[in-house]
Amino acid sequence: MKIAFIGLGNMGGGMAANLVKAGHDVHAFDLSEEAIARAKDNGCTTHGSVPDAVQGADAIVSMLPNGKIVESVYVSDVIDGAPTTALLIDCSTIDVATARRVEEAAAAAGYTMVDAPVSGGIAAANGGTLTFMVGGSDEGFKRAEPILAAMGKAVIHAGGAGAGQAAKICNNMILGATMIATCEAFALARKLGLDPQTFYDISSKASGQSWSMTSYCPLPGVGPQSPADNEYQGGFATALMLKDLRLAAEAADVADADVKIGKYARDLYEAFDAAGNGGLDFSAIIKTV
Ligand code: NAD
Repeated sequence: MKIAFIGLGNMGGGMAANLVKAGHDVHAFDLSEEAIARAKDNGCTTHGSVPDAVQGADAIVSMLPNGKIVESVYVSDVIDGAPTTALLIDCSTIDVATARRVEEAAAAAGYTMVDAPVSGGIAAANGGTLTFMVGGSDEGFKRAEPILAAMGKAVIHAGGAGAGQAAKICNNMILGATMIATCEAFALARKLGLDPQTFYDISSKASGQSWSMTSYCPLPGVGPQSPADNEYQGGFATALMLKDLRLAAEAADVADADVKIGKYARDLYEAFDAAGNGGLDFSAIIKTV
């Protein structure tokens, strides 16, 4: 299948390489020369513009920083540049309203489009073990599934247009909030005289258990290997957690949903990021509690 891939950064670079490994003819474009050079090394055919990359494509996959860029790339260059038979798949994490607007513009121009944001970081993008949450029609999901399966371990149909983005930000709102609650519990346990490993052994098998505790424990030397054991390097950057919590808070305002804890988590990550910690893994917020 001829697939155009737009946005070959930390995530998109590895995803495009996995499409090549699966036997696809991948045509890549990025604004960064470095990203383009890496894509070439990974077996992609590289192009100097979006319209060149999408010509004659069977599908377009994008992995871009934000909704403004996604809208501009699709509305200015992909729509009308790609054949209307091409399936459009945006894997970026963006706001639900923009995702729906771009999908409506694509549909009006005769395209099928899905939003397919991911769970999993750079290691999962490189290793082809991402989880995709897909928003769009049944037909769009059916067509997108085999393409996404080449880059991930799970592909789930979340619902209609924008539902993938909705699932992603609701999930990450839980993640941000449970991480902070887990950090606070470890801090309180220590002050109450509990050994951290003993508290972990109890809580990881009791009702306080969560992914933040048992798969991504924020304390070094406790639980499975996690970014805490590597001085909070790698993993899921605080700046990206903040981005997702802001998207969740914005979506809650638009939908008139009361998300007090989610907004409080956003405020705490905002302060942690502003203190110069945006590049640290988000579990490093334990340093502040
Ligand atoms: P990144 O900044 O490393 O990559 C984005 C790429 O898009 C860059 O190479 C940039 O040059 C390119 N780009 C920007 N504007 C462009 C344009 N107009 N045309 C073509 N290319 C353009 O970011 P990333 O970490 O790869 O994240 C990409 C998306 O994935 C984001 O929406 C992010 O929220 C989401 N995400 C990231 C992670 C993670 O752990 N990094 C995890 C889950 C989801």
